[in-house]
Amino acid sequence: MLVRQMWPVKQLGLLGLRSVSRANIWPGLSALAGNSLRVLMYHRVCDPDAHGFFGMKSVVSARPDQFAAQMDYISKYYNPISIGQCVSWIYENKPLPSRAVLITFDDGYRDNMTIALPILSARNIPFSVFVATGYLDDEQAFFWDWASEAFCQSHVKAGYLPELGDRNWTNGCSQAIAAEWINAVAPLGGNARASAIAGLSGILDFPVTRPPAGTYLTWADLEELSRQGCTIGAHTVTHPMMIGLSAGQARYELATSKAELEKRLGTPISSFAFPFGRTDEYDTAYLPLLSELGFKIAFRSTGAFNLRSECRRNPYEVRRCGIGLNDTLEDVAFCVSGVPRLWQH
Ligand SMILES: [Zn+2]
Repeated sequence: MLVRQMWPVKQLGLLGLRSVSRANIWPGLSALAGNSLRVLMYHRVCDPDAHGFFGMKSVVSARPDQFAAQMDYISKYYNPISIGQCVSWIYENKPLPSRAVLITFDDGYRDNMTIALPILSARNIPFSVFVATGYLDDEQAFFWDWASEAFCQSHVKAGYLPELGDRNWTNGCSQAIAAEWINAVAPLGGNARASAIAGLSGILDFPVTRPPAGTYLTWADLEELSRQGCTIGAHTVTHPMMIGLSAGQARYELATSKAELEKRLGTPISSFAFPFGRTDEYDTAYLPLLSELGFKIAFRSTGAFNLRSECRRNPYEVRRCGIGLNDTLEDVAFCVSGVPRLWQH
C-alpha cells in the first residue's frame, strides 16, 4: 500500500501530449534508452464496487478489464521479464531485451491469484508478488482495509479522533475521512499503531475483526503461485513504515519475513519491496541490512525507469511506477515509457 504520488502526466494532458493518438510514440522513445528497466507496481486487481468488496477502494490498481487492456499493451509494445532476469542483469551483466518491463504486486491480496494470474498467464507475462507475511491466511486485516470498513459501516458518524481532532463523516463511505485517518496512522510504529486502531474501534463502536476469508493470499496460494512461475518476494511481517525502527525491529521485519517464506516455499527469497516505499517513507540506513540478509534486489514505489549503472551501484532502491484505478491506458503507456524520468529523480 502506498499513498499515491501524482504524476506530472496530468500537466502533460494540458499540453495535449497525452492523447490516445500519441500513446504509441512512447514505446519508440523507450527503445532509445538501452540497458534499462521499467517496473510497474500494482496492488489489487478487482472491482471495488462489487458486492462483498472488503477494504480500501483506492488500493485497487485496476479493474479486471482495465488490467487486461494494460497487459495487452505491455505485450504488444514491451518485453516483460522476470525478477531473476533483473538480478542477472544487475550482477552478471546479462543483457535484458530492449523495452524490458517487470510487473510487480505488493501486499498479498488474493485477487492477484484469482484475477491477475489468469490474465498474465494467457499473455506469458512473468510477475512478482511481495507479501507481508503477517496477513497471509487472512490472519488480520491491514489497518487501511479495516479502517475503511469501520468508517463506512459504523453507526457513529461524528466524534473526536485523537489523530485528527473533531470530525464528522456523515458520508462515511466516501472514504475521505478513512484516508485522512490512515495517512495519520501510517507512520506510527507497532504499539502506537495498535493503540490507534483500538482507540478508533472504541470510538466507532466497530470491532477489530479478521477480514472475510479470501481477502488475502493463503500460504497454499503462495505455493500455487510459485508453481505457476510467479516470483515471491518479502514485504516485511507487519507492513511498518521503515523509518525510526530499532535495529532489532528492522531485522525482525526483514529476516523473519524472508526466513518464513523460504521455509514454507522451499526456495530462496532474494527480493524485497519497501512498505509504502516513497523515498520519505523508508530510511536508507536499512539498505546494508538487506545486503547482509542476502536480499539481491529491493524496490521503492516511485519512479519507473532504471539504468543498469544505477542498479549496479544500488540494487536496493529500484524505481517503480504505481498504477491506480483512475489511470487511463494512456497514463500507463506514458508511465511505462520511462519518459517522466526526464524530470523525476
Ligand atoms: Zn505494501
